[in-house]
Parts: sequence; C-alpha cells; structure tokens
Amino acid sequence: MAVTRDLARGCARSLFLFPVVALVLACQAPTAEAPPDLAGADVTGFVVTGGTIVTFDSDGRVIEDGAVAIEDGRIAAVGPAAEIEGAYPEARRIDAAGGLILPGLINAHTHAPMVLFRGLADDLELMEWLEEVVFPAEGEHVDEELVRWGTRLACLEMLRGGITTFVDMYYFDDTIAEEAERCGMRAVVGETLVDFPAPDNKSWEEAIDYTRSFVERWRGHPRITPAVAPHSLYTVSTEHWIEAHQLAEELDVPLLTHLAEGLAEIDRVLEATGMTSIEYLEYLGLLDDRLLAAHVILPTPNEIDLLAKRGVGVAHCPQSNMKIAAGVAPVPAMIEAGVAVGIGTDGAGSNNDLNLWEEVDTAAKLHKLESGDPTVLPAQKALGMATIEGARALNMQDEIGSLEVGKRADLIVVATDGLHQQPQDPAAKPYSFLVYSTKASDVRTVIVEGRVVVDNGQVLTLDAAEVLEKAAHYRAVLNGQ
Ligand SMILES: [Zn+2]
Repeated sequence: MAVTRDLARGCARSLFLFPVVALVLACQAPTAEAPPDLAGADVTGFVVTGGTIVTFDSDGRVIEDGAVAIEDGRIAAVGPAAEIEGAYPEARRIDAAGGLILPGLINAHTHAPMVLFRGLADDLELMEWLEEVVFPAEGEHVDEELVRWGTRLACLEMLRGGITTFVDMYYFDDTIAEEAERCGMRAVVGETLVDFPAPDNKSWEEAIDYTRSFVERWRGHPRITPAVAPHSLYTVSTEHWIEAHQLAEELDVPLLTHLAEGLAEIDRVLEATGMTSIEYLEYLGLLDDRLLAAHVILPTPNEIDLLAKRGVGVAHCPQSNMKIAAGVAPVPAMIEAGVAVGIGTDGAGSNNDLNLWEEVDTAAKLHKLESGDPTVLPAQKALGMATIEGARALNMQDEIGSLEVGKRADLIVVATDGLHQQPQDPAAKPYSFLVYSTKASDVRTVIVEGRVVVDNGQVLTLDAAEVLEKAAHYRAVLNGQ
C-alpha cells in the first residue's frame, strides 16, 4: 500500500507525539471508517516526521528535523523532513517534532514467559538458582497457558520500552510465536532442547519432532523466525548437540544457546573433554554463523578469535551476569576481534526486568569500570549493540537494526522532555542523551513492520489489565496458593 491516505497537512502536523489513533480519528476524511478496536492501529503507510533521526547506518548519520517514509512495512525514504514531506505530499503524518527517531531495539537474549518468575528467587548462585528453583518450578507449573500469559506480559513490557525484536529460548514455542505474532512484534523463537524431560516435551525424540514441526510451521513468516535452541553444553549431550545443529542446518534456521556462561559449565566441559566450551564446539564443527551464543563470559583469547572467524553472534547480558556474579564478558575484546555483539536482558526471572535501556547503560559503564578505561565502550557503540550490531549477531542486518531505505520499518520515537534529560539538546549529542539519560518510559511511539503498536506510550495490541490479572493469578500458583 502506498503512503497516500488523505489527511489535511495542517491537521497532521499536530503537537509533538499527539496520539496517532486520536489523530487518525480527528483528521481522517469523513467517509473513512473509524478504527473499530485495537486493530485500528494497523497503519501501514505514513511519514514519521520532524524529529532528529539517529539512523545507525554505516555512516552513522544523524539527521536533524528529519523524516522517515514507510510503505508496505518497509522504509521507503529517510532524509530531511522538508525533502521527504515534499516527496510524499499526501501521506499520513506522525509528528515527532522534538523527539528522537531511532531503529527499534533488539533484545538479543531472553526467556519471555519467565517474567512470571520475576523476583521468585534472588541472590543465588547460577546452578543453585537453576537446579533448585527454576527447573523444579518449570517442571511443576509451566504449561501452554502459563507460557501464553507470560509471553503477553513480556511483550507488553518490551513494546512499552521500545523493543521491536526479541530473541527467545523457552518451551511451547508455537505459543510464544503466536503471541509475538499477535501483538505485532518481531521475534526469533527457539524451542529449548534439554536432555531431561521439559515442560512441553518429555523425551529428546519428542522434542526434536516438535521442533521440526514448529520450525516448518513458522518458517518464511515475515516477523517470526523459528529457531533450534539447545540450552547449553551442561544440559545437552554431545550427540544431541550434533543432532540439534544438523536440524538447524537442514531447516536453515538460527541455532541459539547459552555458552561460556560460568565456571561451573567450563569445569564440567573441561573435565569431560579436556577442552573449554567454545574450543569443544569448534572441535565438533558446530561453530558457524547460524549460532547466537548468550553470555560468553569466559572465552579465552583463542576462543574469541574462533567466534570471529566462524561468524558466531554473541548476546551480552550484563545485568543478569552481574546479578549472578558470573563475571564480566570481554565485550571490548570481542568487538575488537570483529565478533558481532548484541545485547539482551536475559529472562526477567534473573534480571529482573526486560528493560534494554538499562542494559545498554550498564554495559557502557561496566566495561569502563572493568577495563579502567572510560573510552572503551562509548555511548554510540553501546547503543549499537541494541540496534545494528544486534541485527548483525542475528544475521538480520540486511533487514533490521538501522533506518535505511529498503529495510523493514521497525522504529521508535523517544520523547526528550523528561526531567532526567534536562538541560540537554538531544540533537547535539544524541548517543549520550539516549544511553545515559533516557529511560524505557520515554519511548512514545513504536512501529514494527510499518504498523504502529505503541502510540503515546500505550501498547495498542494487548489488554494490559487482563494480562496483569492473569499474571497475578500465576504468581499465586507459583507461590503454591
Ligand atoms: Zn538465558
């Protein structure tokens, strides 16, 4: 569909971040139908105009008073507002004057339904947290409905905070994919494979069969990328790792895992194989560019070179790693070596939120502290991990991660008038402004695949009251009430 909805320009050029749906109601031609319900947010052709565009393109362009034209779910033009508005004189407008327009954020590692485990157990060692709290709770309580409502709560939180793409590893992945699809997000959804009975599949064979049919069902979907997700080297045998990798290769989908995430893992692998985790995967021939590895806290310099050489993507999860005192991933060294490093929240059970702005801010500061060098991870690079580098870690850099013509129209508009942002000129130092002063709550508009899913800070595709009620119900269940 072309950007041709009739709107009087004076009407469309309303106050900054005037709610899009209200704008449509107020300004549409009298014959147009009013949006009947939340689905009315399905606006696919328009111009987002008047804000400062932080493109994250290869030249790192920042365009003051810029505009982005969107057609058929893709970016049709990016440039000065006067130029774009002239080229699309009859297009519907979203006024972003005074705001910052940037690519939608990419959460490179999470376990969405685990929002329902938020705050269930804190301040424990990783293995104690996993083996004494998480795995038993999952075995007893996790079913398809819990996953459905957990995913809805996670999507509410992520969308509200400007995340347009998330990479997930959990169970009942058809349900996670359905919910991500339904709420308008983009997601890479990996069915988690473990050697013990999982909440959904009770044997390895069952899990592989399920994963195959899940992948075949979703492959080719414009927003949902199905994946295969062997949980880790400490929960999946070598034989099963090889099988999982073969399946991902055969179906040509990503492979997601946790890797080099703690001494306990490294010791177990070392004892069994005489090699460290990443060396062992290299020995097995399993390192390649379809692999996205979460954490990677303890790679050796040789292993960092292997990750770069094989094109393995990394999802850095600083707050989760800090909370469990697992160590500090050598992110500057990995970036220096050419590894694509994205950034993730990890599950809210271990973090305890899905706020990617906090992760970016934390990463920028953590690596300064760790290295003693305040120049080691500047704001632009840190935010790059949540945008173009996250896309690169996923091999999706041709589709998302920056605001460039032809890419999928995933973008956000961020308000710049918060007390915590004053007194700064957002256009003068946009990266500093975004990383060190901006909060998830400053996100006003979120567009995924050319569809407005958050308008004036309201998520349009989910019923928040209903989701919160269900979340409370599941918390009571998890508490044994
Ligand atoms: Zn994880």
